[in-house]
Parts: sequence; C-alpha cells; structure tokens
Amino acid sequence: MTSRTIPKLAIIIPCYNEELCVKTTAEKLLEVINTLVEKKKITPDSYLYFVDDGSKDKTWSIIEELHKSNTLIKGTKFIRNFGNQRALIAGLESVREIGCDCVVSIDADLQQDEWAIEQFIDEYMNGYDIVLGIRNDRKTDSFFKKFTAEAFYKTMKLLGANIPMNHSDYRLVSKRTLDIMSAFSEKLFFLRGFFNEIGLPTTHVNFNVKKRMAGCSKFNFPSLMALALNGITSYSVVPLRFVAVLGFFMALFGFGIGIETVIEKLFWHNSPNGWATNIIVMSAFGGIQLFCLGIIGEYVGQLYREVKSRPRYIKDIELL
Ligand code: UDP
Ligand code: MG
Repeated sequence: MTSRTIPKLAIIIPCYNEELCVKTTAEKLLEVINTLVEKKKITPDSYLYFVDDGSKDKTWSIIEELHKSNTLIKGTKFIRNFGNQRALIAGLESVREIGCDCVVSIDADLQQDEWAIEQFIDEYMNGYDIVLGIRNDRKTDSFFKKFTAEAFYKTMKLLGANIPMNHSDYRLVSKRTLDIMSAFSEKLFFLRGFFNEIGLPTTHVNFNVKKRMAGCSKFNFPSLMALALNGITSYSVVPLRFVAVLGFFMALFGFGIGIETVIEKLFWHNSPNGWATNIIVMSAFGGIQLFCLGIIGEYVGQLYREVKSRPRYIKDIELL
C-alpha cells in the first residue's frame, strides 16, 4: 500500500435543528483536531465543516458566531431541508473543493465516539481509503429502530447489496475516494452502499455509541422508510427479478387451475362448487399484483427523480 504524508483532515457535520448541540460539538471536535495536531497526526489547517440542512432554529447563527471566533470552523446553509444524505453529499463535495486529504463525517449530536477519529487517521496512514465506523452495539436505539434497522440490513444482504451492519455514516474517506465519487453522475447516492461498492481499500474501526447529547432524533418513520427504499432501489434490482419470477410461477399456477376447471366441467359437471376457490384466487392475485406494481413503482420513481436531474441541494450561504 502507498505511504502517506500527514493529512489535512476535514470533519463534516450535518445539522438539522441542532441549536442545543452545535456549540459543544464544535468545541469537542476542535479538541480532537488540536490533540491530533499536537501528536503530529494531522496538519494544523485541518478544519470543521458544518452543513446546516435548512434548520428553523438558531443553528446557523451559532455556526456564524463560531466561524467569527475561529476560521477553522466553516460551513454552509441550505435554503431548505434536503435530508441527511444530501447534507452529507454537500459536505463531501464542498471539502473536496476547499481542499483536504481525507474527510470524516460525524453526527451533530456526537452520538459516535469522536475519539475514534484518531484510529480512523491511523488506518488512513496504513493505506486505507475508506474507514468505516462500526457501532459496538445498538443499546441507545429504541426497540423499533433496532428491529427496523436489522430488517433493513438483512433485506439488503438478501438482495445482494452487502452493506456492513451497524455502520451509520460515521466514516473516513480519502481525497481519492472523493475524486471517484465526483465521476458518478447519479443524483441519489445511498452513501453506505456507494462506499461499499466502489472497491477501494476499506477497513473498519469499532466505536461506542453514546446517548444523544441534547434534543431529539431528527429522523421519523417516513424519513427512515425513504432512506431504506432509496438504499434498496439504488443498489439492487433483485426485487424486480423477484416480480418477474413470481409472475412466471403465478402464470403457471393459473394455467394449472384453468386446466383443472376445464377437466372438472367436462367430466364431473359440478363447476359451481368453486366459489370459495374463485374468491381466494382472485384476492390473492389482486394482492400480489398490487404488491408487485408497488415494487416496480418504487423503481419508476427512482428513475423519475434521476431523470429530472434536479440539483441535490441548494446552498444559501457558505462560510469559508
Ligand atoms: N440530519 C440532517 N437532516 C435531516 C435529519 C437529520 O442533517 O433532515 C442530521 C442531524 O442533525 C444529525 C444527523 O443527521 O447530525 C443524524 O440525525 P439524528 O442524530 O437525529 O439521527 P439518529 O441518531 O436518531 O439516527
Ligand atoms: Mg443521533
């Protein structure tokens, strides 16, 4: 693997209504940066980059204040809320332009142990381009979140997209990874799948999850569902194949039932008996057809959004 020089590190932090967290988060992350600079593990011009995802509270004014006191604290504000994935993409694209050798993304509530960044840098120096943060456990998650997350990872695995379990967008990627990413024109990245797929040297670091520092989770059921469906439709066409195979077997089944009915009519003359069968078959077919249409609809929706090719996000202000 390549030998590397001490990197300039950028840390990106997506924020949505995080007025209770941003200041402490900035202080804690600066402490990490200072310690790593002292240890000569990163360069002194390493910086923080906040992406305010259209917050409606005082998040942005706090970031502006922080920037005034220290220009190593940079950031941008979206004109409206675009969602966590797009905020992360904006962060990655922005720090590539500003300049850095590697970038770490971390949540504004610092649920992830920020001191794991030191190990990320060590792995980067060992030659890895992607270092994934893997949670040691999901103790801080509600039963519902644990259950749905597990179901999602298992479904993805079944569908052929092997996304590491318990990895939550806390990772380091190199400048080389950012350059490769910029060559992909798709609008709706599912970052966890994308970084796993491109095939660069990848390793992981385990970290402990903490309780949210303040405030409440910015995800709700619809936004988690949207994230999961985007993940599935961007990284697997297995559901579409499943629909085709199911359709084939259903047709075979229908053909069999048809033959059976004809034989019954010709030889036994007691066809009116089939009322219950009729209803069962009709409703089962109806349900399966709607379900399959739904799956196909998800992919059509994904195509529709990609084809329109709208900007992933719109920046309002940027502090450099
Ligand atoms: N976030 C964001 N835009 C959104 C929702 C969330 O930028 O629309 C940010 C949020 O501020 C936080 C990170 O994404 O920094 C993860 O969100 P949160 O901690 O609420 O998620 P959880 O830990 O509950 O999964
Ligand atoms: Mg959180």
